Amino acid sequence: MAGTTRDVIAHYDRYVMNTYVRTPLVLTKGKGSRVWDLEGREYLDLFPGWGVSGLGHCHPWIMKALRGQSGRLVHVPNNYYHPAQAKLAKKLVSLAFDGKAFFANSGAEVVEAAIKLARRWGQAQTPPTHEIIVMERSFHGRTMGALSATGQPKYQEGFGPLLPGFVCVPFGDLDAVKRAVTPQTCAILLEPIQGEGGVRVAAPEFLRGVRQVAEQHRLLVMYDEIQTGMGRTGTWFAFQQTGIEPDVLLLAKTLGGGVPIGAMIAKRAIAGVLTPGTHASTFGGNPLVAVSALAACEVIERQKLLDRATQFGRVARERLAALQARCPIIAEVRGMGLMIGIELRVNGGPLVEACRAQRVLINCTQERVLRILPALTITRAQLDRGLDVLERVLLESASHA
Ligand SMILES: *Cc1c(COP(=O)(O)O)cnc(C)c1O
Repeated sequence: MAGTTRDVIAHYDRYVMNTYVRTPLVLTKGKGSRVWDLEGREYLDLFPGWGVSGLGHCHPWIMKALRGQSGRLVHVPNNYYHPAQAKLAKKLVSLAFDGKAFFANSGAEVVEAAIKLARRWGQAQTPPTHEIIVMERSFHGRTMGALSATGQPKYQEGFGPLLPGFVCVPFGDLDAVKRAVTPQTCAILLEPIQGEGGVRVAAPEFLRGVRQVAEQHRLLVMYDEIQTGMGRTGTWFAFQQTGIEPDVLLLAKTLGGGVPIGAMIAKRAIAGVLTPGTHASTFGGNPLVAVSALAACEVIERQKLLDRATQFGRVARERLAALQARCPIIAEVRGMGLMIGIELRVNGGPLVEACRAQRVLINCTQERVLRILPALTITRAQLDRGLDVLERVLLESASHA
């Protein structure tokens, strides 16, 4: 196969299913917040792997763990035991709340696991329950269950019939949550900050209210922290900012330090409803991904990345908020820690392109929300440089608007 960007794209066009909107960029190397394309051009990555590379590309400690484990044993099926999975489960439980973990390979898969856990738990109630309340503009993944839980019709179109049993309410509307509760309700599933939905931060009162409704009606509260977890917001998990604990916590993306892993943590009293044979994942939590996730935890701890996420997040949001005063296309700056959304009054696509032309990679979601999720290991100089470019592009675009 020939070696230019055009050749690679031509091969994709012929041989890879066309399910993604792709940027014409072939990435072949990464280090921290920097990535290089096939022609050797360097980019500053402010949206590393949709959060998967949230600790930077090829972090040396994580690479060391992967190299070590890949030379010993890559896979252990889940009918046997491996020390790394045990250690990882203990670590995540110690960081989140007392409970037990189930491991899979992606975000959508742990959403599926949570749906099954909630249904199984609901079956054990008297009378049995099965409905799950979900939020408008949520995003939980693309498998049929996760898709059915996702409150965005655009992703569901053409795939019906969906899985029944989901009731969708506006995100942040506590009265709507209360009205949605029926004798069949078993759980409430939400992202404490909607990522794909436009970096929308749930008000603490809403989260507190949801918890109260759940206590009152004996429902499970399930947080999808696949994007917000693992230090992104300045605490290990976004729920720790408000102190309102969920019963079930879902993690993926940054968790693996770059490799595919998802985890569901459920409180001890609930975890027991999934008994042997009721759920499984062939690859889930294998030694390779488990050591990588353990190394990721160590990176976050030893490099004090929670503090950095808080500090750098504040720096970035303050700068963008100041920019808003002289940049009329910015409608709002939102976020927490290093999860930042800039809602525009114009379409964001051309701004993403303009940043890429200046070798800075960002994302746009919901058409008008520029989103950045810089690696928690980003340097201050890199962050400032990225914001310089973003600022120039925003001002330039405003001057044409
Ligand atoms: C990315 C994401 C998912 C889906 O994860 P996949 O690994 O793509 O299946 C689910 N929920 C949230 C909040 C996400 O950001």
